[in-house]
Formats: sequence, structure tokens, C-alpha cells
Amino acid sequence: MKEYESYWEEQEKDYRQRREERKAERLKELKRRRRRRRMAVLSVFLTLVVVIVIGTVHNKIGKKAREEEEAAKQLVLEQKQNATNEMEQLLLGYYCDEAAAVLASCTAFSEEEILSWQEKITAQKNMLVPFEGEVPHIFFHCLIVYPELAFDGEYTQDGYDAWMVTTKEFSAMLEQLYAKNYILIRMQDLYTENPDGTLTENTLYLPAGKTPLVISIDDVCYYPYMAGDGFANKLVLENGIVRTEVTTPQGETIVTGDGDVIPILDDFVKAHPDFSWRGAKGVIAVTGYEGLLGYRVSNEEDIAFAEAEKTAVRPIIQALYDTGWEFASHSFTHNDYFKDYSMTMEQMKYDSDKWQRMIGSVIDEIYGEVNTFISPFGVVFDKEDERMHYLMDNFNFKAYCPVDSTPMVVFYDTYFTMNRCAVDGVSLRGNQGVLSRYFDCNSVYDTRRPY
Ligand SMILES: [Zn+2]
Repeated sequence: MKEYESYWEEQEKDYRQRREERKAERLKELKRRRRRRRMAVLSVFLTLVVVIVIGTVHNKIGKKAREEEEAAKQLVLEQKQNATNEMEQLLLGYYCDEAAAVLASCTAFSEEEILSWQEKITAQKNMLVPFEGEVPHIFFHCLIVYPELAFDGEYTQDGYDAWMVTTKEFSAMLEQLYAKNYILIRMQDLYTENPDGTLTENTLYLPAGKTPLVISIDDVCYYPYMAGDGFANKLVLENGIVRTEVTTPQGETIVTGDGDVIPILDDFVKAHPDFSWRGAKGVIAVTGYEGLLGYRVSNEEDIAFAEAEKTAVRPIIQALYDTGWEFASHSFTHNDYFKDYSMTMEQMKYDSDKWQRMIGSVIDEIYGEVNTFISPFGVVFDKEDERMHYLMDNFNFKAYCPVDSTPMVVFYDTYFTMNRCAVDGVSLRGNQGVLSRYFDCNSVYDTRRPY
């Protein structure tokens, strides 16, 4: 019995044990399944995350690429626009080769556009024809900005009225010169210097219908005797541009763009580039005894002051040179011994040597050799005169300009002469017929003049 009981007990135990084992087995299986399920969920989740991340990154890369593409397109458009503006401006000023260089350096144009521009540039070049006739040359002195100060009844009034032009008159003259198809050229455009020092007269190729014109300004020194009389005090730079410093009738000293020929002409050419052949402006003729452009560089009593004035004037000479202006000597002394031809050889030596030493040397550093001599009082010496020989043989002058209202250029071996026509109060009243080819004297005449 006992055995029997123990057998069942054994059986029972076995059974329980198996049941426990099965249960444990099931539990394990269950855990395994759960783990698998969790893993499956996790992997789905991870996949999703990866997909989202990749999607976002991909999207971002796509957006970036699209943005970059857009920016590149924009850049091409901008380059094209800039090159177009530049070429149009260059062609207006007759810079054909320069426009062609801009076209060649810009990669933004399509083949079709390149061809069209090349045609435009060639057409502009083909428009040029040789100019036949004498090249006229007109000259001014510094302009009267405030007639109420110049024409105030003082003893200087008549001189100003006789030899000067007002800013209002000058601006009106420019409009008429432009309307009459004049085009400014440089003295340098007139000749080529050969290796042996002789000169060859150039043929000027200009747009059909245009007449070349040289403008010069005498005595651009802003002499102290004129201070307070309604002229500019000096040339100055404002943001790199040449302007004038003037003192108003109220006694205020200001910087303006309409205080003399230089800034007025600069602004006019900026607005009308086709009035100037390749950026040509005019010839600035300076004496020496009061320095140049309002700077007293020849002050021999105060060398330190003169040096400081030289430092101050250099950037102005540079700016003038960069913007198409030429320089000329107008003698050092502008002495009366020129006027009556009484000057001796010694006086000619003294005057021309001193101009070169005190003025020419300052200009030469930046501009290079000064090649034009604009004679004081318009005097002209005989070609064989020893004073003329001294002047023309010892310096770098290629051009000598007397005063004569008939345009004429005469070439000699190593220099040429070019007549200049005065534009001033005297000629506005008394030389209207001659001046009528440039402008109508009556319509430009400033009624604020005393006469
Ligand atoms: Zn003069």
C-alpha cells in the first residue's frame, strides 16, 4: 500500500513537475514572442525614424540644391545686367575695344547674345569717319560763380567782365555746343610722336557729323587777388571727385559741383558721354607764381608750407588725370614782358626753367610730361626766334597755342601750333559772328553783367 501510495505520489510529482516545466516553457515562449513583437515594433519604429531622417535630409539637400541653382541663375542674370550696362556706357563714350573686352570677359551671355553685341560694337566702329577741316579750340578763364560779388563796382569789376564768363553762361554754352554736335577731344589725339622726335599729324576718326573741339582753361590757379570776388577758392576732392570750394555772398565756405569749368564739364560729360571722345575733357593751363589749382606749391618763403600744398594737390592732379583732363604750361610769371614781346632770352630762360622746376615737376610725377604751352596773352613768337627755340627745344612741348579766333593747326617738325578762340565778355559782345558756330551769344549772355 505504501508502495502504491508512493507510486502515485511519484506520479503526482512527475505530473506537477511536467506541468511546471510546461508552464515555464510556455512562459519562456510567451516572453520570447513578446520580445520578438517588441523587436518588430522597434524595428518598424526605427525604420520609420530612419526613413523620416533620410527624407528630411534628402529634402534639405534638395532644397539647398534648388536654392543654389536659383542663386547661380540670379548671379548670371546680374553679371549679364552689369556687363550690359557697362558696355552701353562704354559705347556711348566711343570705347569700342573696351566694350569688346567686357563682352569677352563675361561668361553669362548666350552665343546669340554675344553675336548681337559683336554686331553692335562693329556698327559703332564703322560709324567713325575721318574728320576733315580745322579743329577749333576755345578757351575760358575761371568762371564767375557769384556775379553780385564779381560785379560789385570795385576796380576789378571791368577786368572780370572783360575776360571771364559766368557759370550760368558756361552751362548754357555747353548745352548749345552739344546740340551743335561738337565732341571734345584731347590735344594728344592730334598727333603721334615718332621715335626721332618729329610729329605726324593724326587723322581723327570720329562719328559722322561730329566736329572735334578742344576746350582749355587759363590761369587755373585761383589767384589770391580774386578771393572774395565770387570765384572758387580752389579745387578739392569730395569722395574722390573733383569739386570746387567757394565762398558764398553770405561768407559761408562750401564745396560745390558748379563752381568752375572742371566740375561743371565733368558732370555734363557724365550726363552726355557722347559729348566726349573717349573721356576727353579739356586742357588746364597753369602759371606758377601762385602755384596751381589753388595750392601755393611755389611759395619760396615757406618751404614747409609749399611742401604741404604739394601733398594736398597731388591727389587732385591724379583725379584730373584719371578723368580725362590734360595739363598745359601758361608760363611761370605771366609777366607783361610777354605781352609786349620785350622779354629777353634770360627772362625766357628764367620763366620756363622755373615753371618746369616748380610746377611741371609736380604735375610730371603723376601726369607725365606736360606737352602743351599756352602762351600768356596769346603771344606768338616767330618760329626762328631764339626765345621760341629755347622754349620749344628744351622742354617737352609738342603744342604751342596762341590766341586767334580762326581755327587752325599748323604742324612743324617737332611741334605744332593751334589757334585758340577766346570766350569772354569782350568776345560775347564783340565777336558774335565768329562765336555763332559754337553758340548764340545773345541767348547765353548773363544779364547780371554790368554792361
Ligand atoms: Zn592767362
